[in-house]
Amino acid sequence: MPRDSRFDILFEPVRIGPVIAKNRFYQVPHCNGMGYARPQAHAAMRGVKAEGGWAVVSTEEVEIHPSSDISPYIEGRLWDDRDVPALALMTDAVHKHGALAAIELVHTGMNASNLYSREISIAPSPIASSASYVPAQARGMSKADIRNYRRWHRDAALRARRAGFDIIYVYAGHSLSLAMHFLQSRHNHRTDEYGGSLVNRARLLRELIEDTKEAVGADCAVAVRFAVDELRGADGISAESEGREVVEMLAELPDLWDVNVSDWPNDSKTSRFAAEGYQEAFVRFVKTVTTKPVVGVGRFTSPDTMVSQIRRGVLDLIGAARPSIADPFLPKKIERGDVDDIRECIGCNVCVTGDYTMTPIRCTQNPTMGEEWRKGWHPESVPPRSGNDSFLVVGAGPSGLECARVLGRRGYTVHLADAGEQFGGRVTRESRLPGLAAWARVRDYRLNQLNTLQNVQLLRGSRVTAEEVLEFGATRVVIATGSHWRRDGVGRANVRPIPGFDAAHNVFTPDDVLDGVTGPVLVFDDDHYYLGAVLAEKLRLDGHDVTLVTPAERVSAWTVNTLEQHAIQKRVLDLGVEVCTNRNVVEFDGSRVVLECTYTARHTIAPAAAIVTLTSRLPNDDLAQQLSELPDATAAAGIVAITSIGDCLAPGTIAAAVYSGHRHAREFDRLAVDEMPFERELTEIHR
Ligand code: ADP
Ligand code: SF4
Repeated sequence: MPRDSRFDILFEPVRIGPVIAKNRFYQVPHCNGMGYARPQAHAAMRGVKAEGGWAVVSTEEVEIHPSSDISPYIEGRLWDDRDVPALALMTDAVHKHGALAAIELVHTGMNASNLYSREISIAPSPIASSASYVPAQARGMSKADIRNYRRWHRDAALRARRAGFDIIYVYAGHSLSLAMHFLQSRHNHRTDEYGGSLVNRARLLRELIEDTKEAVGADCAVAVRFAVDELRGADGISAESEGREVVEMLAELPDLWDVNVSDWPNDSKTSRFAAEGYQEAFVRFVKTVTTKPVVGVGRFTSPDTMVSQIRRGVLDLIGAARPSIADPFLPKKIERGDVDDIRECIGCNVCVTGDYTMTPIRCTQNPTMGEEWRKGWHPESVPPRSGNDSFLVVGAGPSGLECARVLGRRGYTVHLADAGEQFGGRVTRESRLPGLAAWARVRDYRLNQLNTLQNVQLLRGSRVTAEEVLEFGATRVVIATGSHWRRDGVGRANVRPIPGFDAAHNVFTPDDVLDGVTGPVLVFDDDHYYLGAVLAEKLRLDGHDVTLVTPAERVSAWTVNTLEQHAIQKRVLDLGVEVCTNRNVVEFDGSRVVLECTYTARHTIAPAAAIVTLTSRLPNDDLAQQLSELPDATAAAGIVAITSIGDCLAPGTIAAAVYSGHRHAREFDRLAVDEMPFERELTEIHR
């Protein structure tokens, strides 16, 4: 399909200082859990973005000095010349596709744990380390320290140019950099020319920009990433006052302004808490005070919204981290007129969990993310079929849909059957819950793609039995029948059933809640991800009195890793949900629960007219079990393999289910069970 001319504006080149971005698509810096430790994986991932049409592809934050060691997190490193080759891998991969490579240089100041380097952290003034409860303090910088820091930054810029970068950042964002700590009056208590007035507090940022321009400005663009608002009112930088004043003060100094809100949870809000384009109100002033190009973010996936940002003069370049992760080929798809093929980010922040757990990035929508180098997976191409197998995929949740899509793309004949009239499995059900509507994109993208494949048949309202599988005639059967929540309370905190749960008529699982529950409710969340708090929120919005009990020390404890925990706990508290942490449910008599303190084991009694229990799930594996008991019949039916994928193999996240479906479709004929499943980056031993 030819491109709609209204999107042409997105493909205009933009001059950024001495370099030119070929279009307006700009992959802003984002963490990925690969960084300095897995440079080949990192380079391949960035290279795929460049291949997908992004005019600029950036690194994550790159530490410039051992005193900026942010261990255990794995970011980029440019401590000395020996770090240049690893970063050059990335610039080569990016340049191969005609894109510009950008590097975000950072000294993380008091945020550096220095747990690896054992250096002392530095800050504008003496202050406790802001690295999560690390028992250390940063020392206040002397004038000599400031001079040294400026030299480190300059040296890093020169090295970055040697590594092949086209755009070099001075970073004052997310409250994660020394340049920003100097700007913040709450962190900068200096009385010399670097403290006090905003002009003084901005002096270091100005000097860093000038130093960088002087060092590399003839060849490289110098970008500033600046948080114009910290969303903390008068206590922080705000777009109405100091955020605006800083941009006014330094307006024409950098070649590019990359602007956003701070801190990271505010910048990368999930779809549960913010809509596409949510940063506009904060950043729109920037273009009115500078003539330099401006890039900003807002989880942009709709080309119409992007065009509107440009036409209304909000931004010059469409910045994206998550939309480029979910669909590295987003620009190419718009360019080619294939807008319906865009794999839209659902705003779940599973991608952030890679950084937080120091493991390679993963994505709910894009199962190839992070697998570009170690598995050789590409987001848009799949290997052609290797034989004449035909497939029956039973279950059209995220795993079944993805498996059928990839098998179909490979050229196999596929039948995808689901008991329900509507496809999507848990995604369809959960997307009806408060704040989760965008999650339906997991289903919609895949259904759209399946509808274009002639070799895939979709069978709705078809509950498949073992007899039907035998009669069907497919050579391979994939079981993707999902899972269901346990009612007996077995999970992490209780490894045996909770006395009273099985007998009571008023113990419900999330599966029941989606169909309706009445009365004051006690939600027992031993699952610790999003669903317990979402159900508490739904029940509260439905008018019930709700108590949320969790054995963890906070609500939805795992969501620390998706940047949502604070917002989730605030939301349930604001809604009037009673929150009860560090308590396990150990007994229920039908109207009262026994709660046990996880520290003292002391018991308290609480009334509960109904309990919603989220502890763990059981696979829906009846069909797989039945077929496994009929080896002769399956062989006689010509079935060569029956494989379970997704939640019916082992219940997990939606991201894990999509990955499981994708993996089976790609690897069933290519990877033997005993083979190493992926390539590793091993430490080189010199001896
Ligand atoms: P996953 O996350 O692994 O993809 P889901 O629970 O989201 O799993 O989806 C499982 C899907 O399988 C549901 O849509 C359900 O209706 C369907 N299903 C379960 N058992 C059968 C069956 N015997 N025949 C057809 N569809 C089934
Ligand atoms: Fe978007 Fe979720 Fe993928 Fe991150 S993991 S890019 S938020 S879909």
